[in-house]
Amino acid sequence: MPELPEVEITVRRLDALTKGAKVESASAPGMNVMKTFDPPLDALAGRELTGVRRVGKMPIVEFRELALLIHLMSAGRIGVHEKRASLKDRASRVLVRLEDGRELRLREYGTKQRAWAKLLPADEVDADEAVARLGPEAWPAPDAAEFASLIDQPRHLHPLLRHQGDIAGIGRSWVDEILWEARLSPFKKGSELEAEEVEGLRAALKVLGEAIDHYEETIPADAQLPDKAPKPLRIHKHEGEPCPRCGTELEAVFFSEHQTTYCPQEQTGGRVLKDRRLSKLLK
Ligand SMILES: [Zn+2]
Repeated sequence: MPELPEVEITVRRLDALTKGAKVESASAPGMNVMKTFDPPLDALAGRELTGVRRVGKMPIVEFRELALLIHLMSAGRIGVHEKRASLKDRASRVLVRLEDGRELRLREYGTKQRAWAKLLPADEVDADEAVARLGPEAWPAPDAAEFASLIDQPRHLHPLLRHQGDIAGIGRSWVDEILWEARLSPFKKGSELEAEEVEGLRAALKVLGEAIDHYEETIPADAQLPDKAPKPLRIHKHEGEPCPRCGTELEAVFFSEHQTTYCPQEQTGGRVLKDRRLSKLLK
């Protein structure tokens, strides 16, 4: 799933590649993908694409007075393509055909249709409930006081950092990198942190900025993030490998839909956490 760094590089490249393009037509082959009906999607016809940005993990494509707010969910991808999609392409969710022959396309892998889009007046985007409920952006990091206040909750850090209403942009991959960078257990509670641990966690959000830098260096200016580009992760899903810092074997806890990988030496005081998948099997 694309998280803040992946969506950021996606919108930077899309902005550069499509700004100023004129829309020929727009349609939504995806069933139920459009969460709004007024204005209709074809109101984009004849308009100029004026910019692409993001809020949290959501791309926003702007057409002067109108904006297309997109939630990629876990399997959605947005990009501009030189050729138009085949009518048989079952992954197509929203197609914005450009007068120059290219096509801005929201696609979604797999059979589940969960990605969605809303066409909104541009000045109503910030008030939309999906945007208004977001916490501050995870990168650049919130200031110290704001971060300390949002982290001061009796909840485990792993879900807390991924909860978009508290802090926006972090998902299941980057949370492991951030907690490792901060040397904190995913099961420590936000309200249990000492002041210096809070500041260390805030400083660890720099891994998001470093990931954006990595993508800037590896993806040519006129190219886009490939759909299945590997994320530059050192910890997440690297269980069994040596910790890049201390050499201890990384461990993981598996949940039904995700996992968290950590260094037991540096993050959990030498303890290997109970594997929930394994303990379920042993019951
Ligand atoms: Zn380590």
